[in-house]
This record gives sequence, structure tokens and C-alpha cells, in this order.
Amino acid sequence: MMYHRYKEDFKLEIKEYPFLCKLCKKEKALIEIPSQKIKVCKNCYNNFFENRIKKTIEKYKMILPQDRIGIFLSGGKDSSTLLFVLKKLYPDINLQAIFLNLGIKYYSEKVEILVKTFCENLKVPLFIYNLPEREGYRIDDFIFTYFKNKVCSACGAIKRYLFSKIAKELGLTVIATGHHLDDIVSTMLSLFFQGDFLGIAKLKPVLLPLSPNQVKKSKPLYTTPEKEIFYYAVLNEIPIENFICPHADKSPPKTIKKFLTELEEKNRQIKYQLLSVFTKKLIPLIKSNYKEETFNLCIKCGEITTAGDKICSRCKRIELLKKVDNKILELTKEEFENYIQNLNSDWVLIDLKGKENLLNESTKKLKKFFNPYKTRHIFLTSSQPEIGYLLALKLRKKGFKAYNVKEI
Ligand SMILES: [Zn+2]
Ligand SMILES: [Zn+2]
Repeated sequence: MMYHRYKEDFKLEIKEYPFLCKLCKKEKALIEIPSQKIKVCKNCYNNFFENRIKKTIEKYKMILPQDRIGIFLSGGKDSSTLLFVLKKLYPDINLQAIFLNLGIKYYSEKVEILVKTFCENLKVPLFIYNLPEREGYRIDDFIFTYFKNKVCSACGAIKRYLFSKIAKELGLTVIATGHHLDDIVSTMLSLFFQGDFLGIAKLKPVLLPLSPNQVKKSKPLYTTPEKEIFYYAVLNEIPIENFICPHADKSPPKTIKKFLTELEEKNRQIKYQLLSVFTKKLIPLIKSNYKEETFNLCIKCGEITTAGDKICSRCKRIELLKKVDNKILELTKEEFENYIQNLNSDWVLIDLKGKENLLNESTKKLKKFFNPYKTRHIFLTSSQPEIGYLLALKLRKKGFKAYNVKEI
């Protein structure tokens, strides 16, 4: 018996049922297909899952035989499952896996190792783009800008730029992304509530390039529910180790996802119904009422932008980083000793031994503990440097001057 958890959202217990698979009626049933409410064997689950993706790919002509397809792996279940299924369905296509090491300490390295092993096992070539090495900054650096509480949004703009840049570098013709049914429908609803109808119109299964500068983007998991991806990943032993990015926050679509799941309990087809209303009714209506957005090429990097000043959001964010003169968040013991020599204000060194739980405390409790040191430089140290670093990040987001000191 196996038991898996994923981000507390999904649970799966795989056990042999005392009856046969509802589809082939030969093997013992092992798992339920959530959207169909039938219990089937492993083979039938895989066939059902893969065929739906194949149909979506063919219906929207997502992949053509001459294409060179790039998949950016995040280490999460969606992009990894997508790569696994494409390799299985089309063993002869030209697939390229890509990993962006964004320099998020104690996170990027771990995901990189996972992704490397996964691609080696699958025999898919992997291209690693190391942001700190290539461009001289890391996503963590945004903690020193006014983006400190929305690092995700700064990161999003940088990733979009990198998708385009790397696609050109590698000569890709398509980027396939792991967006699934739940992503699409919850984003559509969230944009609907915000009144962003143009945003909804962009949520198509295939996005054609707006300029020769871009490549086609396809979403082969467009009609696949998230829970079924999780089941497939567990069933096929696709690595889904769940490293959580320290900058990830609870975004509104997550609340909407929960709300959709509740609706689904009463109506199993609700997500498909909403997808159909949006794509068949609303998007055509939106398109007939809006004229195409005009865009320019960014004067700094050459990528597409809708900004009036012709400087894209990625380049604006990079400019912010250039203004930060001190990006020190972590020091070795030796560096720390030198650093305090040159400090002209008070500091405190806090050993986190026995206080590791602070990392998971509420903002209120954190502030209560650290407020006495509000005006000082706070140096944290722990036998597990990861804890000190993550806590320093958390405190920086709340306005404290926190650092992690390694090897004390
Ligand atoms: Zn079966
Ligand atoms: Zn730019």
C-alpha cells in the first residue's frame, strides 16, 4: 500500500480493489479516474489519460512533425508529467527539456538535481540556464527592492523574457507548458472577476507568435484535470518531490481553485462546462469587440512590450536591482566577522538552536519575537543554514535587516 500527499491538496492511496477494472474487465481495479468516477487498472488509467492529451494535441495542432519542442521544467508534477507523456506518446519527436536555475538559494539547487536525474532517466536532453552565472543577479535579490513582498511577480516577468530568449538560443519552434484544466478555468474566473477580458482571450490552447521574435506556445494539458495529473504522476513514479519556493505566496487563483473543487462535488462536469462557455461563447465575443493590442519592441532587450515608454517590465525590474548597492543576505563566519567591523549601527547574533519553529510562526508571533531588534542588524545562525536563510528572507519581507550566518 502506498500513500502520498502533495501540498496538502491531494491524497492518493493505491490499493487493489476486490473487483475488476471497469474498462478492460481483466485486471484488478487499482485506482479511480476522478472525472469519471470509475475504478480501473493501471494500464487503463494510463490509456485514458494519455489519449485525452493526444486528442487535445491533434485537435489544436499543437505539435507538428518538424517541430522542435521545448519544455521548461519547474520540478513540479505538471511540467514533469507533460514531458513524460510527450516522450511516451511521440518517442521520435524533437524534445528539449530546459531548467532555469534562478538562483533561489536552498531551492534552485535541489530542483536542479531532481530535474537532471529525471531527464537522464527519460533520455531527454536537458539545457540548464543559470541566471546568476549568465546575468549576474538572482531572484532572491528582489528582497532588497519594493518587490520584496511580490517577488513572484518580478520573477514572472523575468521568466517570460527567458522563455523567449532561450527559445531563440535553442532554435525551438514550440514551447509546451504544463497549464492544466484547473489552472485555465481558475485563471479565467479570476480574470473575469477583475474585468480583464483581454486576459481571458489570451487563455487559448495555442498562442501563435505575435512577432517573428516569439515562438508558438501550446498547452497540451488544457483539458486534463489537476487531480488526474497527480494520480498519473504517482502511478508512473514521476518525481513530484514537493520543494516549495520560498517566495511562493497564496495567490487568488488558489482560493478560486478551492471554490471550484466545492462546486465540482455537486456537478462533476463544472470545469468542462465553464471551459466551454469561456472558449466557445465569451472569447469570440471579446475578440469581436476589441482590436488587437499594439506592441513595441523593448529598446533595451528587444522583446515584445506593450509599455508606452518601450521598456519592458523585465528590464524595468532589472534596473531596480542595479540601484541596490548591498545585496548581502548570507555570510560565512569569516565574512560576518569582517562585516561587523564596518557596521556603524547595532547588531545582534541570534542562535536559532531550539527556535527552529520560528520559521513556521505567524507574522504576529514573528514580529513579537523580533521587534526588540527592529533597529538593529539581525544575524541568524543555525546548524541547518537553510533555516537561517529562509527566516532571514521572511524577516526582510517584514522590513527587518536580517542575515544568515553560515558555519558557526
Ligand atoms: Zn483495465
Ligand atoms: Zn526589455
